[in-house]
Amino acid sequence: MQQPKYRRVLIKLSGEQIKGTDEVVSYDMLDYLAREIGALHQYKVDVAVVIGGGNIWRGNQSIARGMDAAQSHYMGMLGTIINSLALQDALERHGLDTRAMTAIQMNEVAEPYIRRRATRHMAKGRVVILAGGTGNPYFTTDSAAALRAAELHADVILMAKNGVDGIYTADPRRHRDAVKLDHVTYMDALNRGLAVMDSTALTFCMDNNIPIIVFNALEAGMIERIVLGERVGTLVSSQATER
Ligand code: UDP
Repeated sequence: MQQPKYRRVLIKLSGEQIKGTDEVVSYDMLDYLAREIGALHQYKVDVAVVIGGGNIWRGNQSIARGMDAAQSHYMGMLGTIINSLALQDALERHGLDTRAMTAIQMNEVAEPYIRRRATRHMAKGRVVILAGGTGNPYFTTDSAAALRAAELHADVILMAKNGVDGIYTADPRRHRDAVKLDHVTYMDALNRGLAVMDSTALTFCMDNNIPIIVFNALEAGMIERIVLGERVGTLVSSQATER
């Protein structure tokens, strides 16, 4: 069996990824993602997942309508917990052992997030789903992914995109001449406003030297290929050299 390139990965999914057409979640997409994540089990790779809540609630949209900012962000964090439980259900139906851990205490629903317990779960082969973002309003689940990747010593953040296979010089859906980048530095991505993750999270990754691979979550087998070391998607790191 091939040896994985990464020993511990943090997968960031957006809420949009699991959005259904008429329903809050797409059951087919949850199943698909469970299969994609489940494919890593055979390699004994530690897996943590952060999922967003954009399919349910986005803080900023409601703030624009006059809602109190913190109130709205807390609603968004609760949305990420709903998605985390949906993903947990799908992963478990696919035979994976999992634990959901929340940044906002909700003991009847899931464990509170405790760093050492999270690493212990992963050591036991459990997929850890980190729900509730950072637990703080005004942040996003991109920041949660960056923060947890740092404290859990993840080797890389796998940043799932919905139908885009990496970072382009411009939006490839609107600009025909957009060029896909194989590799970009944090600084370049920040300066050029490239669509990696929000700038607070990206700055955090830069400061803590956490590599990010942006990939198309809709292409089957992608997560496994990345973990095995294939150079797909776009790598964001401190070096402007070849991968
Ligand atoms: N949120 C927050 N703090 C966090 C994470 C999320 O306040 O640490 C709120 C924020 O309002 C955000 C919403 O939860 O808009 C949903 O999360 P996010 O936008 O990151 O979801 P995604 O875009 O990944 O689906």
